[in-house]
Amino acid sequence: GVSRRGTRGNFVPPVRSNGSGAGNMTSRIAGKSDDVLDDSTKRCLEILCGPDGELPEKLRNLEPRLIEHVSNEIMDRDPNVRWNDIAGLEHAKKCVTEMVIWPLLRPDIFQGCRSPGRGLLLFGPPGTGKTMIGKAIAGEAKATFFYISASSLTSKWIGEGEKLVRALFGVASCRQPAVIFVDEIDSLLSQRKSDGEHESSRRLKTQFLIEMEGFDSGSEQILLIGATNRPQELDEAARRRLTKRLYIPLPSPEARAWIVRNLLDKDGLFKLSKEEIDTICNLTQGYSGSDMKNLVKDASMGPLREALRRGIEITKLRKEDMRPVILQDFEDALQEVRPSVSSNELGSYDEWNKQFGSLA
Ligand code: ADP
Repeated sequence: GVSRRGTRGNFVPPVRSNGSGAGNMTSRIAGKSDDVLDDSTKRCLEILCGPDGELPEKLRNLEPRLIEHVSNEIMDRDPNVRWNDIAGLEHAKKCVTEMVIWPLLRPDIFQGCRSPGRGLLLFGPPGTGKTMIGKAIAGEAKATFFYISASSLTSKWIGEGEKLVRALFGVASCRQPAVIFVDEIDSLLSQRKSDGEHESSRRLKTQFLIEMEGFDSGSEQILLIGATNRPQELDEAARRRLTKRLYIPLPSPEARAWIVRNLLDKDGLFKLSKEEIDTICNLTQGYSGSDMKNLVKDASMGPLREALRRGIEITKLRKEDMRPVILQDFEDALQEVRPSVSSNELGSYDEWNKQFGSLA
């Protein structure tokens, strides 16, 4: 065959004529001929092809660049979080295991009366481990994990959100079992702005609900997890589709201690006594998991700062020149890192949980 040049000037190998090459399938998408697809897009589409070398029905009318974006940016090939990385939240873990992980592992058992809900809502203050739980679910259930922030659909993908949502659910259905994690889901499914609501955001919301209905009824192995710190903003339609709603609260004192110990231990810096840890727990009431992480980060700078104060140059500093992290480092860090959630916010979560939460 004669070699050709694609429109972008890159080398495009000639298409084999026996029909087994991916060149044939790409030409069916959105009316594009292979010439206009670059190699990375082609590779990405090839992976999604069935054993017959054909692109699944659902993906054929979608724009290749959106499919590629979903595969490369939204799909997480290695979520890398396990249950053991998450402090506390024993109750949430137990519920999620039963409601979500078992059904994904054993779809044959979870049928009929046992058929699971396909929508899970995790709500509570920011930085409490909702995203971690989503990733852990995917990891424990050996599912493909898709992460998207709903606000990016309306801000970054103006006018294209609908198409991206279709691509997202399309790729997920080729990658089952799949977990789709939608962060800040309130910004997508909120009840506000119903009057002056922009036409495009209304269409986006409708498209999203349609996609959810689609896998709700079928035999698809897709779970949608929505996360929000503003559950009050969800409307009735959203609540109806997110059948399980779990409150993810601020960490308990034990969970806070665990986070401190775990992070310092990883770096071999943990030398605190039981009493010192207790003191830290007492001083960090109202801190979220992510506040605790920031606190540990700041405290762990203490030994470094002190060594530099003694006149050692940063370029000459050896690890042995630094003392372990001590209580005073935490007391200093507490001045810098303040809790990010206010106590009146917490009251509104409790209230919503009583009214709409599962297992309140
Ligand atoms: P969100 O609830 O806002 O989704 P994330 O799951 O993204 O919060 O948590 C942000 C970071 O805070 C995590 O990467 C982790 O380092 C820390 N963190 C929050 N909650 C926990 C927890 N329960 N156990 C351990 N680390 C936590």
